[in-house]
Amino acid sequence: MTDAPGRRRGLMLLISSPSGAGKTSLSRRLVADHADLELSISATTRTARPGEMNGREYHFTDRPGFESMAARGDFLEWAEVHGQCYGSPKAPVMSALAAGRDVLFDIDWQGANQVVGAAPQDCVRVFILPPTMADLSRRLHARAQDKPDVIANRLQRAYGEIEQAQSYDYVIVNDDFDRAYSDLAHIYHAERLRRARNPWVADLVTQLLAEKL
Ligand code: 5GP
Repeated sequence: MTDAPGRRRGLMLLISSPSGAGKTSLSRRLVADHADLELSISATTRTARPGEMNGREYHFTDRPGFESMAARGDFLEWAEVHGQCYGSPKAPVMSALAAGRDVLFDIDWQGANQVVGAAPQDCVRVFILPPTMADLSRRLHARAQDKPDVIANRLQRAYGEIEQAQSYDYVIVNDDFDRAYSDLAHIYHAERLRRARNPWVADLVTQLLAEKL
């Protein structure tokens, strides 16, 4: 991708979807493909799933630990999702943005609303939808990471979450991973090029106008 000349203002890419719609795989690939995009690693009170590692997928913590972080103001946002607490640590986000880097958040709509409320100009919200509810159910069962009652609960909640897609800037239907990924990458690339995120534009325009041929 073509990079703009000069310093850019970092953006926050907020990606939400119901559990199982593929947002985690899409997010991880976008971060892997872009050196100046960082993933915000959330803290959570839920227990690690098989294969998850503390500090990689999440910072796993107990409720008192989470509550004291929240009380200290360590979170940019936090919310209760599926009966567990999830929060985005503020410090790594602030230092990434200050260094002109972008940050991707894999967070629910409640958290996305909080971040947008705090810094609307710096946020881009993308919602990932499954093509059908049957497809979502199939994916949740196929990944076999949760117990059947947990899956049933997540599916039930998915209806309420999907409703929130209406307030997002972009919506991607994940019926084909490669196409969905390409859509996500295009959104990210275009948003990086917004004039408001590229303060160097004013100087370049002044320079160009002053250049006499
Ligand atoms: P899971 O337990 O399946 O990893 O995540 C459950 C939900 O919590 C997902 O919708 C995920 O996007 C959301 N989530 C993960 N981290 C955060 C966070 O830091 N803040 C908020 N608000 N939601 C989060």
